[in-house]
Amino acid sequence: MKKLISVILAISMIMLMFIPAFAKVGEEHNHEECSTYPVIIIRGMDFGGLTVDYGTENSTPAINADVPEIIKAVFKAILTGIFTFNIDNAFDVVLGCAYDIFKYMSMDENGDSLYNIGQPKYPESADNYEDLCNGDWGEFGMVRTCIEKLPDGHTYYLNYDWRLDPFVVSDEINALVNSAVEETGHDKVNIVCCSMGGLMTVAYLTEYGYEKVNRCLFMSSTFCGAQVASDLLCGRLEITADNLYNFLASLVSEQPAVEFLINGLYKIGAFKGLTKITDFVIDNYKQDIYDKVLKPVFCNMLPLWGLVQTEDYETAKAFVFGNNTDENVSLISKADKLQEMMKGRTELINNMIDDGVEIAVVAHYDAPLAPVYENADFNGDGTLETYQMSGYATVAKYGETLGDDYVPANPKYLSPDKVVDLSTALFPEYTYIIKGATHVGGNYGSEYADFLIWLLTFDGEFYAGASERYPQFMVSDSDLTLSKFE
Ligand SMILES: [Zn+2]
Repeated sequence: MKKLISVILAISMIMLMFIPAFAKVGEEHNHEECSTYPVIIIRGMDFGGLTVDYGTENSTPAINADVPEIIKAVFKAILTGIFTFNIDNAFDVVLGCAYDIFKYMSMDENGDSLYNIGQPKYPESADNYEDLCNGDWGEFGMVRTCIEKLPDGHTYYLNYDWRLDPFVVSDEINALVNSAVEETGHDKVNIVCCSMGGLMTVAYLTEYGYEKVNRCLFMSSTFCGAQVASDLLCGRLEITADNLYNFLASLVSEQPAVEFLINGLYKIGAFKGLTKITDFVIDNYKQDIYDKVLKPVFCNMLPLWGLVQTEDYETAKAFVFGNNTDENVSLISKADKLQEMMKGRTELINNMIDDGVEIAVVAHYDAPLAPVYENADFNGDGTLETYQMSGYATVAKYGETLGDDYVPANPKYLSPDKVVDLSTALFPEYTYIIKGATHVGGNYGSEYADFLIWLLTFDGEFYAGASERYPQFMVSDSDLTLSKFE
């Protein structure tokens, strides 16, 4: 009898060992029961992410940041300037160095890459790639979070050459959307577009429609362009003492001693002195800066033409191409097409909403912008302007408010600190504003990452503030912990 019990026990144990294996088979994805759509995460631009001769033994980073070489060259330039009393020559060498750093990023007169540039591609679901399972911040944090929190095989990541025509990138988005649909069995996907990914997504929606889109999240995105691109292509370089001070102060805000020093320098007028020098450089060498560096490297990048604001487009074309429109006819016609696309964007997204596609726009503010262009006094998230990221909310300049007398069209859309008024935004009921969050946010393990998962999985009427936990106006600390802004 004892023996029989032992045998039964042994058989039971063996059966138990197999149950997990059977359960695993039973768990295989059933899209009829699964209510979570696959997600396509479309990243922003990445200067460090492109490689010359990618995948070959000769591969080198597209950005040539050989610091010792650059310092040597700049010193040589200064010495040359001193010994020859010729500042023009010295500046020539400096511009040559700048061009050498960026030259592999250059595009030709059709908007195609001049050099053989590539980057890692991830055609399968993200969990198949070890590097995507270990991301920490920004889009990488988002990808890792989605891999861990969404059902298996439901996360896809688009890494693309951000210098290419958005309509070329839209083909890559389409291919990834189709893979996700095929592999998961769902008929639709959720799109998360970050930063430059916003412009690329507008191109995808314009070219391929939104039949396969369930939800679209515009995270710190360029779906309404970017002021910095407008200013760059219109020749509006400028460094003001206030913008420079704000930017430097924000960089050292966690180092009180350095902050104190910068404050002191600002008060005694050191920044005004410094910007006298930069004013001199811009006044005298702006044309050289453009002709020798900015035009060859950046001005043939079609995405930048897509980001230019409608009202600046003619000015930008005149500034960049002048009378050379014949030689640049191919690039200009592609840029025209992008501007047309952006003119149709609002109607397109409204049609999406009418047809049941859910959207959210998420924008951040309270960080100064790179202090090198005229409108760098806009409020932003350290990278892009809140005005465009929010879909044209009314936003006070950095460090200012809209004023005590400011009357919003709808009081519920005014941020408690009177800096952002969503009344003028394109999609105010679907727009979240977060004070103090970094560009794109999304860091792995942060509350922001939880917010992203909520945006992707919430099942209910989808509008900004649908959850008490994530109200329309939030404040973020430096760890991306979110709280209600009151
Ligand atoms: Zn599913």
